[in-house]
Amino acid sequence: MQSCVFCKIVAGEIPCKKVYESDALFAFEDVNPAAPTHILIIPKKHMETLHEIQDADKELIGSIFVAANEIARKQGIAQEGFRIVANCGENGGQTVFHIHFHLLGGRQMQWPPG
Ligand code: 5GP
Ligand code: ZN
Repeated sequence: MQSCVFCKIVAGEIPCKKVYESDALFAFEDVNPAAPTHILIIPKKHMETLHEIQDADKELIGSIFVAANEIARKQGIAQEGFRIVANCGENGGQTVFHIHFHLLGGRQMQWPPG
């Protein structure tokens, strides 16, 4: 999608610090990290919100969690634990409308989130 920041990152039109890539997924460091480790994992396919996910996307979305485990191991946060966050829509706090999963680690997380 032309105007989408994350589609541009996948296309190499906006630079990023890539940490993982497969046929269907892409992952890179968040430009404004909220934790010592803050990676964004996205499907290459443009989908605006979690609310768009359908039956046909089940394998794709499931594969994000498998990739997250691999990335967490490589980033050295698997043992101590981590948090995966996905914001949906305005009340969910979503600011980039291309589905993404935040992988956060390297510090103690708090609950409830803001
Ligand atoms: P959201 O608020 O939509 O859940 O998260 C969007 C995330 O994307 C934010 O944490 C923000 O820092 C990150 N972000 C926005 N634009 C860019 C960018 O151009 N490059 C990178 N690496 N991260 C971005
Ligand atoms: Zn996009």
